[in-house]
Amino acid sequence: MPELPEVETVRRGLAPVMEGALVTRLELNRPDLRFPFPQAFAERVAGRRIISLGRRAKYLLVDLEDDLTLISHLGMSGSFRVEDVVQGDFHHARSKDVKHDHVIFHVERDRSQQKVIYNDPRRFGFMHLWKRSELDLYPAFAELGPEPTGNALDADYLAVRLNGKSQPLKGALLDQTVIAGLGNIYVCEALWRSHLSPKRQSGTLVTPKGKPKKELLALTEAIRAVIADAIAAGGSSLRDHIQTDGSLGYFQHSFSVYDREGGACRMPGCNGTVARITQSGRSTFYCPVCQK
Ligand SMILES: [Zn+2]
Repeated sequence: MPELPEVETVRRGLAPVMEGALVTRLELNRPDLRFPFPQAFAERVAGRRIISLGRRAKYLLVDLEDDLTLISHLGMSGSFRVEDVVQGDFHHARSKDVKHDHVIFHVERDRSQQKVIYNDPRRFGFMHLWKRSELDLYPAFAELGPEPTGNALDADYLAVRLNGKSQPLKGALLDQTVIAGLGNIYVCEALWRSHLSPKRQSGTLVTPKGKPKKELLALTEAIRAVIADAIAAGGSSLRDHIQTDGSLGYFQHSFSVYDREGGACRMPGCNGTVARITQSGRSTFYCPVCQK
């Protein structure tokens, strides 16, 4: 399931192909994905130029001319790939089952034509059209917290959000109104890096005056760092993939604690073993020895 770094990797991979390109045709091979496509979807997108590609949390944003944004969510199994149109023909990527090619953007840029193909075997992804000037009103965006990238997220902000909360850290950090787009994997990784137990009460990271304790400063840094590292890893994996079959999407990350139940803790100087517990129905991986 794609998390924020994967979506950002897809955005960076598609940007050179799509930004500034004209959508000559939008080909729909089904009436719907998880939800029906927008009314007159193909007609409203075709003939418009793509201004830029953006991202909010785990949503890819294709900014089109005339104040229109195509919002794309990859669901569980959605991915994009790019194929060159060569003399009217194009090369099939052998690794992809073309019967799951549900949406095809035919784009033209600098007189070269390419297809940007959305493939989604499980069809949990979806696409919507929305007025760009009213994106904040899109239901999924209305309540979103700051992005975990760049400087938007800081410890003073988290202190306000976590102050007085008895909720365990794991659940508080998964709350999308606190941080946008942070998922299960990267919450586990950030808590491990900052030596904090996923079971610890959130409010214990805040001073009586409502300021961040040094543990919260460390956690904030760790959240930004795990996301930045994953985006960087995606970038290098992307360069390898594009050279082979043009696909953008999933790549193997190596995680420090996530999915490593029973493995030795990788924190220098720690002899603990990674444990798995269930919190709010989700698996949490952590080291009971060095995470307090
Ligand atoms: Zn440990």
